Amino acid sequence: MPVEAALARLLEMAEASRIVERERLPLAQVEGRVLAEDLMATLDLPPWPNSAMDGYALALADWQGEPLPVSQKIFAGQAPEALKPGTCARIFTGAPVPQGADCVEMQENVEIQPDQCVRFREPLSPGQNIRPQGQETRVGELILSAGTRLGPIEQGLAASLGCAELDVVRKVRVAVLSTGDELVEPGQALGPGQIYNSNRVVLCSWLQRMGCEVVDAGILPDDLPTTRLRLGQLQDVDLILSTGGVSVGEADFLGMALREEGELTLWKLAIKPGKPLTVGQFRNVPVIGLPGNPASTLVTFALLARPYLLRRQGVQDVEPLKFALPAGFDWPVAGNRREYLRGRLEQGRATIYRNQSSGVLRSAAWADGLVEVLEGRTLTEGEPVFFIPLSDLLG
Ligand code: AMP
Ligand code: MG
Repeated sequence: MPVEAALARLLEMAEASRIVERERLPLAQVEGRVLAEDLMATLDLPPWPNSAMDGYALALADWQGEPLPVSQKIFAGQAPEALKPGTCARIFTGAPVPQGADCVEMQENVEIQPDQCVRFREPLSPGQNIRPQGQETRVGELILSAGTRLGPIEQGLAASLGCAELDVVRKVRVAVLSTGDELVEPGQALGPGQIYNSNRVVLCSWLQRMGCEVVDAGILPDDLPTTRLRLGQLQDVDLILSTGGVSVGEADFLGMALREEGELTLWKLAIKPGKPLTVGQFRNVPVIGLPGNPASTLVTFALLARPYLLRRQGVQDVEPLKFALPAGFDWPVAGNRREYLRGRLEQGRATIYRNQSSGVLRSAAWADGLVEVLEGRTLTEGEPVFFIPLSDLLG
């Protein structure tokens, strides 16, 4: 299954089970959350014309070029009087432009005469250095649409409009399950044949960053009764996200449990790393089973599970940021799966980590992005490839 087809199916499923519950939160607590309702401007911004400079405001319409006396001083936060004809006003950045004035000249371009009148040395034009009312927003305008992910900038925009609270979509509850008899948690001693569980912390931290509520469901041994029991204990989540256990058919206990008490489809994705993906349900709780190799977990989470989870919260724009860069490497043999190489941006080129094994998480720690090489493609150095920054994916 091509990556686009898998993503389209997942997004359809997410759309069908969109989270509709919402909560109202103080602005400072909405970071990482999804806006539940369109945010309309209830103010013009700026609410009145204001000065973009420290300088002098005058009325060009009735000015012949003569030096002008200063009739008032306007600081930010003050309400000025209308400009007296035949005068100018001393004005500071952010202060309201007095009625009648249509131009602000910066203080560096004027000369204060011995009689304290202001001589304007440079040619002046109407509107100069004035930030007009409503240049940013107009009352009634749509500012942020429902489904927008909120970060510092959106929070700032809402604050500038005076919003103290916002309606956001309730957090998605995601249970993280690591499957495998070989897994041991860090801090414990390793026995023969055992490895430390790294996927758990990768996914738990990542989900938290995304604004999800994480239910850390620990390690699931490779046996059917325990799998059934543990899945049954996760009935109050929006998604069970597991890793491992999907590549070896006979030890795929997750798949067996889903087949018995839910629904199972196994997708063979044309993606490398990360070919096998389990998508299904256990007693009506959606389940996504990612492959267990750490780099496979990372790539399939980033490109499939992450957009799925965002769409469940109503986010429309779920595709990661992606741009073309010249390849800093040769790719002589075309693959039959789309590859996401762990790479770096070095001197304007996409370079790749020396070891691209799906078991190597270190490649991703070295990397600052995924380099996309399309199926059936070969590359020579300098040809364009797509680069997906990890900084975008990790948020
Ligand atoms: P599986 O999909 O269960 O066959 O696992 C594929 C590979 O990933 C095996 O080498 C596993 O030992 C490894 N693996 C599975 N789960 C994890 C995990 N949570 N942390 C680190 N490695 C894992
Ligand atoms: Mg396993």
